[in-house]
Amino acid sequence: KLYNQVQDLKGNIRVYCRVRPFLPGQENRFTTVEHVEDRTITISTPSKHSKEGKKSFSFNKVFGPSATQAEVFADMQPLVRSVLDGYNVCIFAYGQTGAGKTFTMSGPNNPTEETYGVNYRALNDLFYLSEERKATISYEVSVQMMEIYNEQVRDLLATDDIRNSSQNGINVPDANRLPVTTTADVIHLMNLGFKNRAVCSTAMNDRSSRSHSCMTVHVQGKDLTSGATLRGCMHLVDLAGSERVDKSEVTGDRLKEAVHINKSLSALGDVIASLATKNTHVPYRNSKLTQLLQDSLGGQAKTLMFVHISPEADAVGETISTLKFAERVA
Ligand code: ADP
Ligand code: MG
Repeated sequence: KLYNQVQDLKGNIRVYCRVRPFLPGQENRFTTVEHVEDRTITISTPSKHSKEGKKSFSFNKVFGPSATQAEVFADMQPLVRSVLDGYNVCIFAYGQTGAGKTFTMSGPNNPTEETYGVNYRALNDLFYLSEERKATISYEVSVQMMEIYNEQVRDLLATDDIRNSSQNGINVPDANRLPVTTTADVIHLMNLGFKNRAVCSTAMNDRSSRSHSCMTVHVQGKDLTSGATLRGCMHLVDLAGSERVDKSEVTGDRLKEAVHINKSLSALGDVIASLATKNTHVPYRNSKLTQLLQDSLGGQAKTLMFVHISPEADAVGETISTLKFAERVA
C-alpha cells in the first residue's frame, strides 16, 4: 500500500536508508544515530555541521540497525514483482565501505536462509511467482553479472577473456547471459561471479570496494493464450564505496580509482536527481554506469536507491555526506 502512495507522490524513484548495527565486540562505542523513525533519521552532529548538534533526514523508509533481511525485502517485494509484469527496475546500494551495501544486496560471507540478501530473495520470489502463474504465462529467467572498474566493464560470467579485451569494455548486451530456473542455479552463478571478481583483484587490493558490481536479471514472459510476450529486467547494483579519498594523499592507481568512482557516483546522483525533478535533459552519458543502465533509469522504469550508513561516531563525516547525497536524489 505504501508502495503505491510513494509512487504517486514521487514517480518511480524511491530512497531507503539502512543503518548497520555495531559489529560484534563494538557495541559500546559511541554512535552518531540519535533516533530512527519509519521515515526519518536523526544524526547527532559535530558543531561544524549544525548549530543544534543534530540533524534529521527524511526518506521513503528508514531501516534501523535491528531490521532483518526479511523485513527489508518485504518492503521492496512489490518492486521486484513488477519485473514479471514487464517493468525495468534498478536497485542501488550506496554508502561508504563497511556500511553494509554487500550485506543488503548479497548477505554476509557464507549466508544462510535467514541472512541472504536482496539478490537471492528477489530471484527466489520471481521463481515462486512464475510458478504460481504458470497456467497462464510461461516465464524464462536469465542472469548477467558485470563489474565496472575504472570505467571499464567486465563480464563476470565470461568463460573466456576475449570479451573483456576491447578498449572500451563490453556492452550489457554482449555480456554472457545464463538461464536460471532454481535458486541453486543462482547461488552457483553468484559464486562464479564472485570468484571471477576475486581473480582480478591484486594482492592487497580489496577491489570490490572500488568497483561497481551489477547483477542483471532478465525476465521474458509469454502469455499462453494470446502468445504475446513481455520483457522486464532488474539491475541489482552494489556500488563502489562512496568515501571521499583525500586526493592530496594518494597517487597512481589509487588516485585513478578515486577519480573514476567519484565521477561515476556523482553522475549517478545527477541522473537520479534530474529524473526526480522531471528534467527533460537527463545526463546519462557522463559515466559508464549510467550509460549501461540508461534503459532502466527513467521512463516507466523504477528505481530504488538504498543508502547505507555506519553507526559509529567517528564515521559521522561520511554519514552526513551519504545522507546529503541521498536527500538530493530523494
Ligand atoms: P560494504 O559492502 O558497504 O563495504 P559490508 O556489507 O561488507 O559493507 O558490511 C561490513 C560488515 O558489516 C560485514 O562484516 C557485514 O557482514 C556486516 N554487516 C553489514 N550490515 C549488517 C547488518 N545489517 N546486520 C549485521 N551485520 C551487518
Ligand atoms: Mg561490499
